[in-house]
Amino acid sequence: MNIVLLGAPGAGKGTQAAKLVEAYNIAHISTGDLLRAAVKDSTPLGVEAKSYMDAGELVPDSLVIGLMKERLAKEDTAAGFILDGFPRNSTQAVTLDAELSDLKRSIDAAIAIIVDPEAIVARLASRRVCKVCGFIGSDADTSCPVCGGEMYQRDDDKPSTVRNRLEVYEKATSPLIDYYRGSDLLVEVEGNHSVDEVFASIQAALA
Ligand code: AMP
Repeated sequence: MNIVLLGAPGAGKGTQAAKLVEAYNIAHISTGDLLRAAVKDSTPLGVEAKSYMDAGELVPDSLVIGLMKERLAKEDTAAGFILDGFPRNSTQAVTLDAELSDLKRSIDAAIAIIVDPEAIVARLASRRVCKVCGFIGSDADTSCPVCGGEMYQRDDDKPSTVRNRLEVYEKATSPLIDYYRGSDLLVEVEGNHSVDEVFASIQAALA
């Protein structure tokens, strides 16, 4: 199963991706995670991407598309993949279709998690991520409930950056909902519920 996950920052893409990976045994491709790893390792790509990420802007397509293609070519995607955070604009969506077509593969579903913008601002302000295993929790988690690792707040979850990320999402990414509706791949899921409820709706829609 090859899935694209769409939704505003904080809609719960990363959390639902982790559950889908476990349930369907498919590869998790998060361009945000790949970029954060590149920034941490200070690779040339990471150094270039950092200023865009810190400002809540999209990293240029020329950098992100290469990263996605390289990841998609890895063997663990053979049984299927979940793309979390890619595509983020129409150029990326069209490039993804072309790349998959070259690989004789295609997308089975584009799941859009729909969340009220007010809820998103509150969610992102309290979001904390495990430094060790990447678990996504909240400021109520003093340490990671999965591995005991230290929880931290992403730089781009600070209020000043969040506003811009939401604007960028509205302008560049939300039109992709219509793009995938047009190819009959769209599954819309209400995201203002518990993690398990949202996951159950996704599973029901995929069945
Ligand atoms: P995320 O973890 O998906 O919220 O991504 C964090 C940041 O990484 C975004 O705010 C962007 O700056 C950058 N990013 C992640 N995925 C993409 C993408 N597909 N295109 C451009 N920038 C991206």
